[in-house]
Amino acid sequence: MFIDGAWCAAEGGRAFLVANPATGEKIADVPDGGRADAARAIAAADAAFAGWAGMTAYDRSRILYRAWELMIARKVDLARTMTAEQGKPLRAAANEVQYAADFLLWYAEEAKRVYGETIPAPRGDQRFIVAHQPVGVVAAITPWNYPSSMITRKVAPALAVGCTVVLKPAEATPLSAMEVFRILEEAGLPAGVANLVTASDPAPVGEEFLENPLVRKLTFTGSTAVGKRLARGAAESLKRVSMELGGHAPFIVLKDADPEHAAKGAALVKFLNTGQACISPNRMFVHRDIVEPFLETLTGRVERMRAGNGMEDGIAIGPLVGEAAVAKVERQVADAAARGARVLCGGHRLMEGALARGHFYAPTVLADVTPEMLIYREETFGPVAPVIAFDDGDDVLAMANDTAYGLASYVYTNDLRAAMRLFEGLRFGIVGINDINPTAAAAPFGGMKQSGLGREGGHEGLHEYLETKLGGFSI
Ligand code: NAD
Repeated sequence: MFIDGAWCAAEGGRAFLVANPATGEKIADVPDGGRADAARAIAAADAAFAGWAGMTAYDRSRILYRAWELMIARKVDLARTMTAEQGKPLRAAANEVQYAADFLLWYAEEAKRVYGETIPAPRGDQRFIVAHQPVGVVAAITPWNYPSSMITRKVAPALAVGCTVVLKPAEATPLSAMEVFRILEEAGLPAGVANLVTASDPAPVGEEFLENPLVRKLTFTGSTAVGKRLARGAAESLKRVSMELGGHAPFIVLKDADPEHAAKGAALVKFLNTGQACISPNRMFVHRDIVEPFLETLTGRVERMRAGNGMEDGIAIGPLVGEAAVAKVERQVADAAARGARVLCGGHRLMEGALARGHFYAPTVLADVTPEMLIYREETFGPVAPVIAFDDGDDVLAMANDTAYGLASYVYTNDLRAAMRLFEGLRFGIVGINDINPTAAAAPFGGMKQSGLGREGGHEGLHEYLETKLGGFSI
């Protein structure tokens, strides 16, 4: 763990094991922190706050910029660590490290643009100014599926505006987090400004984050169930919260779209990270007139995807994070098949040879999916593409919006009017129109409804860590 500028063991010397999900092999032992460690890290962050917030934005920017340089220089090493502990193919891991670094660079730049405002006052002898100040100590909790970028997406804007941070990474992927913190240390971050607490059991650390009065903000990325629990706990002392939660993305292909082009996009985005992405399409609504060519292209592409250890060349499908994840996918596919879905490819675990040692599930395409099926309602977080044919009379916008989630959505059409109607009508924080990658450090990312609160990335991402202060002056 990294607390108050020093790498340290957990109180009592406890440790937990990190394993490779592709091979089951042990990779490392990591300090198993608890509540006392979290309290110590929060105290360090609180002590460092005044000094860090008091530095100029230019000085903070320089440190973030240096961290960006270091991360880019170590891209290959960081990607290897990520593939070993998380399982995604090496090339995808390198892309994620690039994305993680993008946040460091973007917020190194944005640090210098936290502008205030002056407002015309109602009295002649009055002046109003609006200033933005850092909220204080930030507690951050991140998931395993994007183990580097989910950290920098929180830590870079928090540091840029002058907040100090305590981060708890997911128990499956603490090694990528340690690499990020090593970079922050080497970039010259003063002691206590960013602290890392690793733990096998998230609950005690989470409780300290919620109950410690020095923490002024909680930022979380993970499941909706845990996010709600944390938001409830944060309400007790009215800590500010940002929540990046689950998704159930619709992928709509209108009648006028090119079904092959749309299917290529669907194959690319659905199977990224073996479907373990919050923006992964989970309901593909395709017009009945073009559903067969869409399915043919999609199935052809998916059948060619090779599963295996992400360290090897040519692997498209890495392991799922654990046995429970495989069991969930199995349950959804069995339920869909029992209710009449056609399994066009995949539909089973992968157990041949070395694959038996990891948590592998074959990339799967389901046709004839209907609203009665579990997969129509539940986030899958696995390599299954469920396709639903819709007809001219169907209100596909209403079908897409019929979910408690509201993170990402996708539309394929060449009809400008339809594209605009769907962009405006979809109750989702992100809408990709003929675009399967509508994300970047410069753009606001986040969900509506039960997909979350707040935005990360872009200039919106800075304001999650800022208080607004009004000055009224009588002169
Ligand atoms: P999860 O909620 O189980 O875990 C996420 C983090 O929360 C981990 O660090 C975990 O240790 C911690 N956690 C779990 N229980 C806790 C508790 N009681 N107190 C404090 N911390 C606790 O989610 P997961 O399975 O690791 O991640 C997958 C979920 O994350 C999916 O639903 C996915 O959609 C979502 N996600 C969302 C985004 C986004 O930006 N919206 C990005 C990535 C993942």
